[in-house]
Amino acid sequence: MPSGKDKSRSKRRVFVRTPAGKVKLHHVKRNDSKAQCAECGAVLLGVSHVRASRLKNIAKTKKRPSRPFGGNLCSICARKKIIERTRSQK
Ligand SMILES: [Zn+2]
Repeated sequence: MPSGKDKSRSKRRVFVRTPAGKVKLHHVKRNDSKAQCAECGAVLLGVSHVRASRLKNIAKTKKRPSRPFGGNLCSICARKKIIERTRSQK
């Protein structure tokens, strides 16, 4: 019988096979919402959306794309921003 806090469907139900071969039901916290572009609001690709406590177990390269504005702007908006900045420097 799950305890009261686990009966809520705000937690994800995952079937886990134990070393003894039995299948048990685990209640896992859901992932955070997906990261969005700061300019246009599009969903960012290549950005992991796990809970902040699990981010420490994930490699830095899997947290965001390694380019300017990676993890903050989408590729289209980042390209526009870089072009805009280089033109304003001249
Ligand atoms: Zn964008």
